[in-house]
Amino acid sequence: MALGAATPGARRPALTPLQHEPPDAVPAYGPKAPRPQPILHRETDPMPYFDPATETLPRAALNALQLHKLQEMMRELWGKNRFYSNKWRAAGLQPEDIRSLEDLARLPLTTKSELMADQAANGPFGSNLTYPVEAYTRIHQTSGTTGVPLKVLDTAESWDWWGRCWAHVLAGSGVTASDRVFLAFAFGPFIGFWAAMEGARKLGAMMIPGGGRDSAQRLELMRDAGATVLCCTPTYALRLAEVGRESGFDLRSIPLQASVHAGEPGANIPATKARIEGAWAAKCFDHAGASEIGAHSFECEVQPGGTHLIESEFIAEVIDPASGAAVPPGQRGELVITNLGRWGFPMIRYRTGDLVEVNLEPCACGRSFMRFEGGILGRADDMVTVRGVNVFPAGVENILRKFPEVDEFRITVSRVRHMDEMDVEVELCEGADSTVVHSIAERLDTLLSFRPRVHHVGHNALPRFDMKARRFHVNRSL
Ligand SMILES: [Zn+2]
Repeated sequence: MALGAATPGARRPALTPLQHEPPDAVPAYGPKAPRPQPILHRETDPMPYFDPATETLPRAALNALQLHKLQEMMRELWGKNRFYSNKWRAAGLQPEDIRSLEDLARLPLTTKSELMADQAANGPFGSNLTYPVEAYTRIHQTSGTTGVPLKVLDTAESWDWWGRCWAHVLAGSGVTASDRVFLAFAFGPFIGFWAAMEGARKLGAMMIPGGGRDSAQRLELMRDAGATVLCCTPTYALRLAEVGRESGFDLRSIPLQASVHAGEPGANIPATKARIEGAWAAKCFDHAGASEIGAHSFECEVQPGGTHLIESEFIAEVIDPASGAAVPPGQRGELVITNLGRWGFPMIRYRTGDLVEVNLEPCACGRSFMRFEGGILGRADDMVTVRGVNVFPAGVENILRKFPEVDEFRITVSRVRHMDEMDVEVELCEGADSTVVHSIAERLDTLLSFRPRVHHVGHNALPRFDMKARRFHVNRSL
């Protein structure tokens, strides 16, 4: 037998270093990758970190690291990245003017509409490119739920950075080299779980691609490959469980220990999280990120009721969405994020539209990274005013998911003869007592201070979603 040939069924060697050491020369198209991390195992490392040295840094040292990375990035971008060089010049600033983290607030904000206009004017990729197009190795685009998709480009170095961020996310949920991570994802141009695949690779875990098959086939593959971790949207975790239930598939035949969710709220909505955990008998973890900015926050195994921001790779600011003024920790505001490792297609002071509340209290997991209390609390533009009441879709979902009889739902806000109406359609599990709609209406009345109309609709009458769900509709001209 040839030296080093694998023996079928042989155990993989334990605790060998990961082989992703960067070349000695500083890469041309992005920041230098950190040193390799050891491979960990679920059995021996019950609460793994991806990078303990930075995850536990005291705040002052963490802030110094952020400032160093910010200054280094700005110097690299200056004169090369047309989009940011022009923005800073217009504001009368240059990289040397940023001497402290407080100075960051002097830089102009970046919006998604600005990036979209830039790509329309400087097609196809826009002017937020620091390097020649030949330097880029990957292209993805946003899901396009709010208009024309935005194209995002990565160099080999920034793609590696995405992988490091996802390794933080997966390690946060306890994933180690012993795990087999199933990605219930179509592997299309949406960045979604592509980067999760890279994160799994960095941890030495096995990645099971779940594209190109329907839900029943996915369940079979998860069982046959012994999936221990499921990555998908929260909506799809519930959908897979529903398909299993309807087809008589025993979900317990899958040795699942954790599920990691992104793409939409849900894993941070207590009733939805409880429902996913109940269906799969596995711990459910929240994660947030976006194609434009990267995979930025994750829930740790302690699950303190919020997500950690990967502060070694991102800087967060929270602002009042209306005035733009800074909002202190503990108060709700819009998350403005700066990524530090995607030099080829950077985002500096990007308005995410996501509402968060920062918590700087220490976490029992030992990480010093700040937390977003309750995860992403909603979108600044998602709130709908109905009869003078501010309605947040996540709040309504949290009520509906508390009723085990409810399988699926759809909410429509409309205006009938100058009066706002809210219709809630609920699809109940087979055999459920339809009088539950009265209790649902009462609970919503308590939450909203007005009584929406709750309708019971037939089995499978409402749409199902594989990716981002759309359950909240507004049909009125304002
Ligand atoms: Zn923690």
